Amino acid sequence: MPSADRQHPRSDLTGGQSPIHCDECRSAIRSDRQQAVSFLLLDQLTIPVLSCDDHLERFASICGLTSESTADLLNHRPAGGICCPSCRLAPYNSSRPVIPIEDGVLVPMACPEHQSEIVQRFHTGLQTQQQLSTSLRTTTNGSL
Ligand SMILES: [Zn+2]
Ligand SMILES: [Zn+2]
Repeated sequence: MPSADRQHPRSDLTGGQSPIHCDECRSAIRSDRQQAVSFLLLDQLTIPVLSCDDHLERFASICGLTSESTADLLNHRPAGGICCPSCRLAPYNSSRPVIPIEDGVLVPMACPEHQSEIVQRFHTGLQTQQQLSTSLRTTTNGSL
């Protein structure tokens, strides 16, 4: 028996790290300056995020599809601050997920709970967007 299959590292989540094509995203997530942080406001969530302006807007509009109201973006700390104490500490946490969005990325700097919540919103939003564009295509095709 060849001893080939020794423990696979948990590569499922990163899936071979695709390069970031957007230069602005790259510099935004590398600079750890507070000025680079934006805040995504969606329903009750206030999530500090790192990305470039373009991809922030893409992300916000996609997340907004999962909500009755639209997602807001602030480039300064919101007046009420961040309610979740764990999210406030999150910027000092070294493990941050990177969410690929088109040719850029977005890094949510939230606690694990809110991280997974915003990631879920994003995925739901993407599905909604796909459904919208497919149904739009089918209605235009079949409407005559
Ligand atoms: Zn970008
Ligand atoms: Zn939190």
